[in-house]
Amino acid sequence: MLVVPEKQIAGLMTPEAAFEAIEAVFASMARRKARNFPVVREAIGHEDALYGFKGGFDGVALVLGLKAGGYWPLNQKHGLINHQSTVFLFDPDTGRVAAAVGGNLLTALRTAAASAVSIKYLAPKGAKVLGMIGAGHQSTFQMRAAANVHRFEKVIGWNPHPEMLSRLADTATELGLPFEAVELDRLGTEADVIISITSSFSALLMDQHVKGPTHIAAMGTDTKGKQELDPALVARARIYTDEIAQSVSIGECQHAIAAGLIAQEAIRELGAVVAGRGPGRDGAEVTLFDGTGVGLQDLAVAAAVVELAKHKGVAQEVEI
Ligand code: NAD
Repeated sequence: MLVVPEKQIAGLMTPEAAFEAIEAVFASMARRKARNFPVVREAIGHEDALYGFKGGFDGVALVLGLKAGGYWPLNQKHGLINHQSTVFLFDPDTGRVAAAVGGNLLTALRTAAASAVSIKYLAPKGAKVLGMIGAGHQSTFQMRAAANVHRFEKVIGWNPHPEMLSRLADTATELGLPFEAVELDRLGTEADVIISITSSFSALLMDQHVKGPTHIAAMGTDTKGKQELDPALVARARIYTDEIAQSVSIGECQHAIAAGLIAQEAIRELGAVVAGRGPGRDGAEVTLFDGTGVGLQDLAVAAAVVELAKHKGVAQEVEI
């Protein structure tokens, strides 16, 4: 099998390659040519760790595999980041393991690529201002991918911990965009596109904050109980997601569903828009992408990085 270690990913994978891989796999999901398998996520009762795996099969790209890993909150004592993951790919013709790929940087790139795909298809015409809610590790990847797919003129940002906002300012500067820290009511009024990427467990952006036309990529909520948006705002929006089953159970829509404000039938797949099988913004005042993060995204970027590693002659072959 081929091994692409974590330390090689940064030199191989680009936001553009991640975008292409995610756009293609979302379309394959909508055409029912690719499917995710049920997610396993367990507290293992050791080191407070949450461990699990997300897998799937893309019958168009012929990519089969899983991402294994999770969250080890005490990893600092080992000099490691808390999120740890590895992607394993298998030969769909024989079942033999084909590749092991470091999954940490790829997770950030595939998550940012997903919101960028939603911006490409759903941003209001002439969008100029990008609003960022969240200033953690993922936020810089999100901003870079958004700027790659759409020409913004300004970034405004808010974070529950204001001392972290310099991260957004630095990234905007790197992208040649002016940055301003604002309160949430201004962010909701002025931003044409909003990305939320926090680990919040209660609504931050409220319905009354948002004056359309606006596209919101809600990317932080990927677990039961997490929440970034007012359910009334979710209910007002035209809703898209990566996978409906995850949106209603672990995504932002879990709260609007539980409150009886929306039915599952109100949620559309972003892949259907990409595949030309369903309507996009179509004059909606507010569109929402509930990005929950699916296994097929991980497999798509891992398969892309394996191809890049082969092309550059840096993939390591290991007999197993
Ligand atoms: P991080 O720990 O680096 O940053 C956390 C962010 O959330 C910061 O902006 C911080 O100020 C804010 N925050 C922390 N505690 C909070 C609280 N109690 N209430 C409100 N805000 C709080 O995390 P990260 O790596 O940037 O990840 C951000 C979120 O994105 C996490 O919830 C993570 O699980 C999620 N995520 C989603 C996907 C996906 O596919 N949808 C993929 C990766 C990460």
